[in-house]
Amino acid sequence: MDVRARLLELIAPIAIGDELAPGARLARVSDDLGPRLTFALADGAEVDVEVSPATAGLRHAARTAHLTLAYRGRAASAVGAALCAILAARIGDRDAGFVAALAAAGAADAPRVREVSVDHLLELAGPPGARFYTCSPYVGCLIGCRFCYAQERLAAGRAAAGLPLAPWGSWVDVRANAAAVLADELARLPPHARHPIKFCPIVSDPYHAIEARLGLTRACLAAIAAAAAPPPVLLLTRAALVTRDLDLLAALPWAGVGVSLPTIDDEVRAHFEPRAAPIAARLATLAAIRAAGVAPIAVVQPMLPGPVDALADALAAHVDSVSLDVLRGEGSAGPLFDDPRFAAARDEGWQQARLAALTAALADRGVAVWTGELPPNLPPTLAPTLATH
Ligand code: SF4
Repeated sequence: MDVRARLLELIAPIAIGDELAPGARLARVSDDLGPRLTFALADGAEVDVEVSPATAGLRHAARTAHLTLAYRGRAASAVGAALCAILAARIGDRDAGFVAALAAAGAADAPRVREVSVDHLLELAGPPGARFYTCSPYVGCLIGCRFCYAQERLAAGRAAAGLPLAPWGSWVDVRANAAAVLADELARLPPHARHPIKFCPIVSDPYHAIEARLGLTRACLAAIAAAAAPPPVLLLTRAALVTRDLDLLAALPWAGVGVSLPTIDDEVRAHFEPRAAPIAARLATLAAIRAAGVAPIAVVQPMLPGPVDALADALAAHVDSVSLDVLRGEGSAGPLFDDPRFAAARDEGWQQARLAALTAALADRGVAVWTGELPPNLPPTLAPTLATH
């Protein structure tokens, strides 16, 4: 079922490009993270409105009998809340039909590994001036980190589709036609829209275990390599399997691979990320990436316990820039933080203090730290204005 078309039916007569309220135009609809409407505001900012079944019990700014509406984005909260309220008033009597249609489409097919077809793969993201596409051959991740911020929103999408509740890390949707769809999308991209393509853990890790057998991420990379003008490619992963594809990545005009390294202590890693690659394997992966001529990038998110200087030394040995971010909610990792050895790390103050300490240690070693969605070492003609610190 085309969720985006259903969303547009839900909010009709508002269509792409129309104003929902003065200064707030509907820019796009998407379904990677569940049904979502993105509004462009007059000042250039954007706000996302997520539409979820009320049964998912998510925090929200407005609701109807069967749906909740929540907002995300840098816009003032009053704007997001107002858009949610306006939408709720518009869709009030159509919400039951929307929920029923999603459920009917999904309930017939509910194995833990589902093969699905998509009609689009590239999702436009990022603010004006720093646009990129997310690209997700899979939805759902078999690595299953319990703090993963994707799980709650994807669970809401599964609930909307009438699929049974399954623990995070135990299910995945395989987008079987991903490479063909991507090739078609690339062929139709106008030159001004060749933004970087980011395979990122917003809904899955591109190199979780099933990729070794199915090769969907590799097939997508091959599609990019075969395009007339391949855009820059950025992959983020917690798995060593990415080294399998360094041949393809090295042949692209520009490719970067970000390896997640939230701690240098492998005991801590095993506690929080038991199904992800050990620290030694991740460091070896970073070394292999650099040796292949691909840009190595490290991501530290969330902050986890372990010696700061040793982590900074390891990062400085392998990368020129690091993306840092703190814990964004515990997800289902509450029991892991209950362990007295790690309890302090759940605290926002501890996360911020660790971020500051690591930032200083990296600065001492000449390593650039960046925030936001894209690294600072994109090719100059493509690099947008980035927030760095
Ligand atoms: S590897 Fe990434 S996408 Fe997968 S569960 Fe962990 S944080 Fe989430």
